[in-house]
Amino acid sequence: MEDQDYMKVALQLAEQGSGQTSPNPLVGAVVVKNGQMIGMGAHLKAGEPHAEVHAIRMAGAEAEDSTVYVTLEPCSHHGKTPPCADLLISSKVKRVVIAAEDPNPLVAGRGIKKLLAAGIEVVSGVLNSEAEALNKVFFHFIQTKRPFVTLKWAGSLDGKTATVTGESKWITGEEARLDVHKYRELHDAILAGVETVIKDDPSLTCRLENPKKQPVRIVLDTHLRTPETAAVVNDGLSETWIITGSGVSPEKIASFQKKKAVIIQMNTPAIEIDNLLLLLGEKNITSLFVEGGAAVHGSFIKSGLFNEVVSYAAPMLIGGKDAPPAVGGAGFRGINEAIRLKIKQTEILGDDLKIVCVKKEG
Ligand code: NDP
Ligand code: ZN
Repeated sequence: MEDQDYMKVALQLAEQGSGQTSPNPLVGAVVVKNGQMIGMGAHLKAGEPHAEVHAIRMAGAEAEDSTVYVTLEPCSHHGKTPPCADLLISSKVKRVVIAAEDPNPLVAGRGIKKLLAAGIEVVSGVLNSEAEALNKVFFHFIQTKRPFVTLKWAGSLDGKTATVTGESKWITGEEARLDVHKYRELHDAILAGVETVIKDDPSLTCRLENPKKQPVRIVLDTHLRTPETAAVVNDGLSETWIITGSGVSPEKIASFQKKKAVIIQMNTPAIEIDNLLLLLGEKNITSLFVEGGAAVHGSFIKSGLFNEVVSYAAPMLIGGKDAPPAVGGAGFRGINEAIRLKIKQTEILGDDLKIVCVKKEG
């Protein structure tokens, strides 16, 4: 086997932690000596040992003179656990192969430098794009201090989310709806506008069997209009954060805090998307799944502050000038202002079409 093959194994190990390592990255490590894998490990939860620690522990004394494959540059600073670079040095490994360097500009390269200074051979960039894709959320979060934002909607082929009378159940089928729950499980938080909460009273939970976690539910609600009877503030199935503008009175907020919801007040009258994302980043929300409605999607699009779009289209035509669209808001006036996307993935789910797009660079 070659470096790439072992790195593939390390990446597969890393992937096992999907949805459960936030705010940490997904990392896998494999220790190889004389063509044999003698240790492997993955980082599975923040605060728990790093991948290298598990892998080196498994290899034991045999780690001496081995090659260690790790999907992310070993850490060089004292966090919740001691630096992995030190562990690799004290274990006397001969060679370290890395897929991606640390994305944090302040620490990038330091782990590698430490290893090199100790006389360890270092190869970096093996399966680099695969490693960066696996940790796209972490890389974005570390570099921008804001969550990776995915906008999601489901509608008819002609872009409607309900009929003119407001009927919307069901446009897409079971497979598409199940797919949404898979996304919910992988995200730190789900976001919806207060109108969606008022009109649909959604529970915004992940309803897979044994989900790894329940995402935080976030409601954008400038004037605190969320009904006190809403499921998200009563069911206790996950945390709920209601974001309000600066104008809501302390009395009103106090009445809500008896409910199972946290009220977070912005210091501006309206909720600005960029400030919101910074605030969520400070609270270690690394990934945000925006589920609408149209007005909220409109604001995110206008701000340009999103990374991906997941759109489910049912082969159905609803029509009607006044039937609600997937995206509302003011929109753009010129085609040159419109946001161009690149199709990353298409899939048929049951009878529906799923399209995943990313923003075009530049
Ligand atoms: P939204 O759910 O998008 O909520 C909009 C409200 O959120 C605004 O009126 C505003 O009220 C509040 N808000 C606070 N800050 C912002 C901000 N920065 N940008 C935008 N809104 C903000 O309302 P819609 O009426 O557009 O959509 C609701 C409908 O969408 C529902 O009927 C639901 O069924 C449907 N829907 C469909 C989905 C689909 O995929 N098919 C997904 C989700 C919803 P205020 O000023 O009081 O704060
Ligand atoms: Zn480490």
